[in-house]
Amino acid sequence: MISADIAALLYLVAGVLFIMALRGLSNPRSAQQGNRFGMIGMGIAILTTLALAAPSDWVSWVLIIGGIGLGGGIGAYMARTVKMTDMPQLVAAFHSLVGLAAVFVAAAALYAPEAFGIGIPGDIHAQALVEMSIGVAIGAFTFTGSIIAFAKLNGNMSGKPIILPARHAIHIVLGVAMLVLVWAFTVSADPWLFWAITVLALVLGGLMIIPIGGADMPVVVSMLNSYSGWAAAGIGFTLGNTALIITGALVGSSGAILSYIMCKAMNRSFISVILGGFGGDSASSAAAAEDDRPVKQGAAEDAAFLMKNAGKVIIVPGYGMAVAQAQHALREMADLLKKEGVTVKYAIHPVAGRMPGHMNVLLAEANVPYDEVFELEDINSEFAQSDVAFVIGANDVTNPSAKTDKTSPIYGMPVLNVEDAGTVLFIKRGMAAGYAGVQNELFYRDNTMMLFGDAKKMTEDIVKALGH
Ligand code: NAP
Repeated sequence: MISADIAALLYLVAGVLFIMALRGLSNPRSAQQGNRFGMIGMGIAILTTLALAAPSDWVSWVLIIGGIGLGGGIGAYMARTVKMTDMPQLVAAFHSLVGLAAVFVAAAALYAPEAFGIGIPGDIHAQALVEMSIGVAIGAFTFTGSIIAFAKLNGNMSGKPIILPARHAIHIVLGVAMLVLVWAFTVSADPWLFWAITVLALVLGGLMIIPIGGADMPVVVSMLNSYSGWAAAGIGFTLGNTALIITGALVGSSGAILSYIMCKAMNRSFISVILGGFGGDSASSAAAAEDDRPVKQGAAEDAAFLMKNAGKVIIVPGYGMAVAQAQHALREMADLLKKEGVTVKYAIHPVAGRMPGHMNVLLAEANVPYDEVFELEDINSEFAQSDVAFVIGANDVTNPSAKTDKTSPIYGMPVLNVEDAGTVLFIKRGMAAGYAGVQNELFYRDNTMMLFGDAKKMTEDIVKALGH
């Protein structure tokens, strides 16, 4: 057992470590160190909580240690085996569990308030009732919302936006009904009202996420991440646990900031994402791609020849590179080009791929030097001075219609000015559109050469051609 003062101090140390973890994670160079800070902080928080409220019976210890072992074991296994492209749905699945935990803790506090020091059954402190009802509402909403997000990202449900009739009116009615129930519960503490809030929030979470299309899903996942943080902070108040309040607030605010950054990078307003109806799935992408204008097609040898003789090549990776896992072959190609005296740089669009930092993580995995990797605003003006833009599995992030076509769903999104380069090489399997489902005018331009094939296979072929 430790005193409450010592525990408060240790929780503060854990909180500082969590902030250092977030700081570290903001850059691939310091991300591993950031992760370590996070793990140490979490270890301190768990041990402090156990020392503070050490149970006296062995059954509780078995449950606690068994729970940590089982949960930690499954989490470690999943984190080790998950494919990079499946990361968004893994995060959605984890958030659903945070939401469910918030519901369970609120229910436990309702039925055993004396264990939480918030009153006795039938006479719970008013403040705790408010925290409990808000915590359970956000938790239940996050639970079903995250499950729908998981199903859409994992392909169990269509990624198309599903437009339910009168959905906005239904959401408003359910939202208002929930506020009334929260108010009624805080004055009566009736367990039936508690469960009514839970059911309503479960329904609302599902209904609000169903109309949102797959293209907006990463924003939704980040938004649900934020909600799960606020739910955790709510539980922290109920449990009187400072570490949980700090962690919840950090997750809540960082998730909200991330959602904002993603919306800005895609030129979408947060409200329009929540209202749903944007984007499509691969079927609509294929439909958008029906266009029989001729394109200039090349082979790996042509690409190798062009780049070998170039002064400067800018590589633009996108979702297709991630799917094909072409990053190692890509680095090999860049190494060979550098040996030939070619300057090689990588241009990263903030929403290339399917989650923030997607490309940075993959390039870091392939040991691409950090000083060759540039953000959009730092490199966009350099395309005009480069001989080749090598676009590997990217599409939307290069689409000039974002600059010119007011009717385009991506109009206003900042894009990489690849067309300013002497030649633009596009590696993709066919003429299909990108995630936003819009055709890319660049494929038909005179200074574009299409390299049709799987990103990894084509890059390996270029590597072979460069070796000769
Ligand atoms: P994209 O526009 O989705 O295009 C990816 C291209 O890769 C496709 O046109 C596809 O064409 C090609 N491809 C797929 N598999 C391939 C393979 N194995 N080998 C070669 N090519 C392959 O991707 P992006 O340019 O990276 O843009 C990202 C999109 O996702 C944006 O619309 C963005 O708004 C959206 N988004 C991103 C985030 C984020 O956080 N990063 C969040 C939300 C939404 P083929 O089928 O013809 O091969």
